[in-house]
Amino acid sequence: MRKQSSANRLNDSALKPHPAGAPTGDPAVDVVLFRRKLMSWYRSHARDLPWRGTSDPYRTWVSEVMLQQTRVAAVIEHYERFLQRFPSMLALALAPEAEVLAAWSGLGYYRRARMLHRAAKFVTSELNGVLPGTSAGLRTLPGIGEYTCAAIASIAFGESIAVVDGNVERVLLRITGRPEENTAAARAFVLALAKLLVPRRRLAERHNAAGDHNQAMMELGATICLPRAPLCLHCPVYSMCRTRGEHLTPPRAVQRSRQSAYLLSLRKSGIATDVLLEQRTADASLMPGMYELPPLPPEAVIGREPLLRLRHSITNTNYYVQVFAARGPQDRVLRRAVPAAKGDLHWTRTSKLASVPLTGLARKVLQRLDVMAVQAVQMPDEENLNIPGEEPLEETD
Ligand code: SF4
Repeated sequence: MRKQSSANRLNDSALKPHPAGAPTGDPAVDVVLFRRKLMSWYRSHARDLPWRGTSDPYRTWVSEVMLQQTRVAAVIEHYERFLQRFPSMLALALAPEAEVLAAWSGLGYYRRARMLHRAAKFVTSELNGVLPGTSAGLRTLPGIGEYTCAAIASIAFGESIAVVDGNVERVLLRITGRPEENTAAARAFVLALAKLLVPRRRLAERHNAAGDHNQAMMELGATICLPRAPLCLHCPVYSMCRTRGEHLTPPRAVQRSRQSAYLLSLRKSGIATDVLLEQRTADASLMPGMYELPPLPPEAVIGREPLLRLRHSITNTNYYVQVFAARGPQDRVLRRAVPAAKGDLHWTRTSKLASVPLTGLARKVLQRLDVMAVQAVQMPDEENLNIPGEEPLEETD
């Protein structure tokens, strides 16, 4: 049997307190063997994602902020386009907020874009344009929390710090045979274990051991140790795992359904076309300041046939959306529903829509109806993108 040094052996007893109902026994993990198996798998199986392999901390930062609670495929769709528009921290800092939001449109959680923009301004004006090179320094920037600063510090600067996201948490709880609980004790246990597993920095080392390790852990959770049907037979640490697929599947969140209706109103202006948009108020709890098609009350659309029907999912809610067009200038019902005098209505040139901060739903509708051009995106092959373990956020808006 392989002999383990005490320094390389993780033992439950060193990581107390146990969460209630946790299995007892000695789920020791051979740290060196775990890292070796994980990295050997990662080198041959890591997905080829556009933000991997970059040496520019700004690009790593943008990718990490985009990846928060967002599917990899959706991030790929926006990442290169965002960086073409804002290729440097300075370009981002100098841009108006509306343009940053427009480039973020469809990725959802727009507070991330506002915070990224605010932090870029801060770094440019107060830190001579240089992103702090440590997790402690990064933590002082607006919108950078514990996860993001650890991810940037380890991936971009090689700091030996553990990155714990939902994927890593799931892997570590399963490896050690603990229940998948969202409790303070479980989180403390996972953090302690993640810290022990992350490689220390060695000065002579040329590659970024900590950054690679953290990315490998997240990759394992995203592609193999899936939330609902883990692919245990393909798992590089199968022999070290106490769960091996026999986990208790957490119940799916209850899905809610909502109906909503919007008006599509177009007008000719010479050879150009304008579309009527409504800006959400600055104090709206969701997507403040973003632009959308004017919403219609249910009574205004009774007996009407919509131009378009679609489903739009935001976290746990499915919106069944209908889009209606006015039946000519005499259509009093829709006119009354969206009176011209209503504040925050804007006729917007359709050729300029790409630079307008549209909600994800408005963008989807306008593209489906050919009012707005769909920008081509370079996507890796489908197989790589079909990642059942990713968060099921179809659109986060
Ligand atoms: S063996 Fe299965 S449950 Fe254990 S870490 Fe691997 S994929 Fe997850």
